[in-house]
Amino acid sequence: MAPTTPAPLPLAVDLPLRGGVVEPMGVPDCEFGDCERIERARRAARAVGDKSKVSDCNVVLQIHLSASHAIGVVRCFEL
Ligand SMILES: [Zn+2]
Repeated sequence: MAPTTPAPLPLAVDLPLRGGVVEPMGVPDCEFGDCERIERARRAARAVGDKSKVSDCNVVLQIHLSASHAIGVVRCFEL
């Protein structure tokens, strides 16, 4: 039997982004005030085109949602 070669790995993978970027969404009336604060910082970063800070805010918001609201799978919205 001839040796088999593994199938080549794909060079790119299409992820189901549904045509837009998905971001976590804060809890309305967050009792800690963090959801609103983080979303405000994200809006300010986006307004000046600081995509790195927008991404940082998304990570911080996801951590906050998980730690403070016990939301393991974040609710998201599309841009
Ligand atoms: Zn919150």
